[in-house]
Amino acid sequence: MRTTITIGPDLQIGGDDFVVMAGPCAVESGELLFAAADAVQRAGARVLRGGAFKPRTSPRSFQGLGTEGLDLLTAASRRTGLPVVTEVMDPRDVDLVAEHAAVLQVGSRNMQNFPLLREVGRQPKPVLLKRAAAATIDELLLAADYVLQEGNENVILCERGVRGFDPSTRYLLDLAAVPVLRERSPLPVIVDPSHGTGVARYVPSMARAALVAGADGLLVEVHAAPEQARCDGQQALTPTGFADLMAELRQLAPPIGRRLALAIDSTGAAKSPDSYDDEVIAP
Ligand code: PEP
Ligand code: MN
Repeated sequence: MRTTITIGPDLQIGGDDFVVMAGPCAVESGELLFAAADAVQRAGARVLRGGAFKPRTSPRSFQGLGTEGLDLLTAASRRTGLPVVTEVMDPRDVDLVAEHAAVLQVGSRNMQNFPLLREVGRQPKPVLLKRAAAATIDELLLAADYVLQEGNENVILCERGVRGFDPSTRYLLDLAAVPVLRERSPLPVIVDPSHGTGVARYVPSMARAALVAGADGLLVEVHAAPEQARCDGQQALTPTGFADLMAELRQLAPPIGRRLALAIDSTGAAKSPDSYDDEVIAP
């Protein structure tokens, strides 16, 4: 039996539906966040992503807007009806982030931050756990066990690429991890093709491949104006690029026995498939 996890009031991941989570790498301003949120919601994403606390390699890079970013995410969630996934980096921020987020992301750099894993395990919201760039699949599953052991069984595993030797892509996206994880664990598995490739034009192929490989969903970076992004702009899809990808995924899913979770309108109600097709597939 596979684990089905409920996100927000009624979205299920780990069941029949393929769930797409999308939004900017970082929350940068209300204007940019709302533009991205509106676009991903219209295109059929079911969860809004966006980092308020950003783990940056350099301490001199933009670190995120922090609590202001969390408030903006809550506003974007109210506006679109989409639940939010956002990263928590510090065990002391878990309660604060959980007040604003439907899903708590533990990023790749913190996959083995054991105090953080324990802390997110002591609260009930689902946890999106990203594989570290040099972690084996077993290490990812053992990291998930830290969360499960504290009583939170709602862990979503995320493959986001491991460190390879070839600079043609930012990381080496390990799509074979999808069937391996599904064999070894009942937890839902999603794929992040944005960090996995680091290049926006490679993202759609890997997103389609993730669906076909059996993933339960995607985490995709989308920015209203990628060239202006303060973080990861080179790997962000534009709103149009994302809408095109969603249209492709919607066609690809049924022949392989999958279905894209229906889009919702801004009141949080699922749209009928008819209105959905009109709005999303028409150019
Ligand atoms: C992110 O999702 O923006 C992120 C920082 O991802 P990762 O932890 O996989 O690098
Ligand atoms: Mn990013």
